[in-house]
Amino acid sequence: MVLAENLVLVFLAGLVTAIATGIGAVPFFFVEEFGDRWNVVLWGVASGIMMAASLFGLVDEGLANSAGGFPTLVVAGALAGVALVEIADWILDRVDFSNDNSDSTVDDSDDVDRPLEAKAFAEGDLKTLTLILGILTVHSFPEGVAIGVSFADLGLEGGVAVAGFTVPVLAVFMTIAISIHNVPEGTAIAIPMRAMGMSNWRMVGAAVFSSLPQPIGAVIAFVFVTWAREFLPFGFGFAAGAMIYLVLTEFIPEALKTGRSLPHSGRIELAIGFAAGVMIMTPLAYI
Ligand SMILES: [Zn+2]
Repeated sequence: MVLAENLVLVFLAGLVTAIATGIGAVPFFFVEEFGDRWNVVLWGVASGIMMAASLFGLVDEGLANSAGGFPTLVVAGALAGVALVEIADWILDRVDFSNDNSDSTVDDSDDVDRPLEAKAFAEGDLKTLTLILGILTVHSFPEGVAIGVSFADLGLEGGVAVAGFTVPVLAVFMTIAISIHNVPEGTAIAIPMRAMGMSNWRMVGAAVFSSLPQPIGAVIAFVFVTWAREFLPFGFGFAAGAMIYLVLTEFIPEALKTGRSLPHSGRIELAIGFAAGVMIMTPLAYI
């Protein structure tokens, strides 16, 4: 039987990782406006972080959880991730993003500063932003499942004593690893938000929101642990496929669009940023 306290603990572990994502957006509180050149570099950083997180973190983890032989589930997951981005893109193309109050497709009741931000978003920008936030939110679900699975041996001997619980070493490790992985991802989410003129606290909110599937996924996985274990290779492949495809089809083109006025459309700035992002994320992905 699964005790309620256990579920709360697993949920809290997932919540910690979600809050870590918000921390990644905080550096933007301390910088004002960026010029085009810096924005291109930052799009590059975001792309590099996501590529490295996908290839060295998720795909690697997916393969480690596969039974050997051809990793069918990881590949199938990656293809499903690509399909998700395509479908989301297709759907969003049909949504009306003009901020017309009488005919709004998005329900915003608490928006005091809406008119200001509406000006900051060109219609295309808002669509891109929605797509990026949506895909990153979905990608974090399998990571939550991984956290939940790591708690499978909760209460058994050999764990670490945390607040009256005997927590498996693997769970402590997973919670820390995913939290660390989430900080630069939060930065990667904040970069496009900032480039498109979103306010500071909204950026933090959006970053935390994008990781809320983690506590939810963790609890579901903890309850259905046998099912969740089998899902992992597919889940990791899925998260990686969606992120890589998002970088290729949204981040890079957006960076080049931003860099239009720079020499070589800002390709040099983009490459420098990308390399920096890979260098930040690669060591973290191997924790
Ligand atoms: Zn991630």
